Amino acid sequence: MSINITRATRSRLPETDLSSPGFGLIFTDHMVQAIYENDNWSDPAIVPYAPLAMDPGSCMLHYGQGVFEGLKAFASVDDHINIFRPEMHFARFNRSCERLCIPEIPENFFGEPLHELLKMDRGWIPRQDGQAMYIRPFVFGDESFLGVKPARRYRFLIILSPVGAYYAEGIKPVKLWASDEYVRAVKGGIGEAKTPGNYAASLFPARQAQLKGFTQVLWLDAHDHEYIEEVGTMNIFFLIDDKLITSPLTGTILGGITRLSVLALAREWGLEVEERRLSIKEVFQASREGTLQEVFGTGTAAIISPVGVIHYAGVDIEITDEIGPLASRLYNYITDVQCGRREDDHNWLTKLD
Ligand SMILES: *Cc1c(COP(=O)(O)O)cnc(C)c1O
Repeated sequence: MSINITRATRSRLPETDLSSPGFGLIFTDHMVQAIYENDNWSDPAIVPYAPLAMDPGSCMLHYGQGVFEGLKAFASVDDHINIFRPEMHFARFNRSCERLCIPEIPENFFGEPLHELLKMDRGWIPRQDGQAMYIRPFVFGDESFLGVKPARRYRFLIILSPVGAYYAEGIKPVKLWASDEYVRAVKGGIGEAKTPGNYAASLFPARQAQLKGFTQVLWLDAHDHEYIEEVGTMNIFFLIDDKLITSPLTGTILGGITRLSVLALAREWGLEVEERRLSIKEVFQASREGTLQEVFGTGTAAIISPVGVIHYAGVDIEITDEIGPLASRLYNYITDVQCGRREDDHNWLTKLD
């Protein structure tokens, strides 16, 4: 593979304020791009970050044949760039592609081109505690036709966005609205793929929850409206009676990489871990009996997000107003590894010089 590099004539970095970048609002000087046509992927190229010229008939704009990933790189304390579990994100990317009839991308698309891109734009990696470079690889059908069928031409891109500490004012628990009306995914649907349609479908219920004063929707299963699935962009864990419980991967939830990291750590730390269906009624019961110790979400953006309140069918379950000891230990462990403050015993990092 040869990577063709075209440098931006001028960097936008000098006029960019990286002190509080927010999430996904700032983009760096360059991006990776590759095109699939005639049954083949082109070699990836690095080009200046710029708007794309697309045909208005491009099928992605009409029927949503696309897939994305989200991972992070960190400026480490020893001046390396640490990418967190890229091979897992690559594998999930291709699993999502398969579900959307998008041709598999070669593994080296998440290797050298990404490494080169991060090195070229390394000045954009924010360095304060909790900040990171969010990496957004994505692919979509880029062929002009209005029939419902898979495209023959695709565009793959990786863009980079410096992001701030997810919690500007320290970790504050989120309030979740468990919907007994709307659902996120059904068995056999696209719930386990990271594909735009899932997120478009979540906007309306999320807005309803926000109008009622809640942060996000807690999704229950589509069949019984009873079993806990996940949150908008996070998997969810319950510590009940010293057992850590999370939903199993049955095809309707997104298999998070943070979820896997948390499961591995919890098992190593000797906690009893259960991947099983958990009904909202069981959570209510645990709350009544005083055995509901902690609830937290897991995902690349926030890493660990404590849950303070869950609302369901007119009743609030009050859990906490601060991060619990397990959530806090997990958050510290994972962020310490990511920034090179702790030994990477699990080989989670790809380190670039
Ligand atoms: C991305 C995502 C997650 C979290 O996955 P991570 O790999 O931990 O970032 C969970 N749920 C949904 C719906 C997601 O899109």
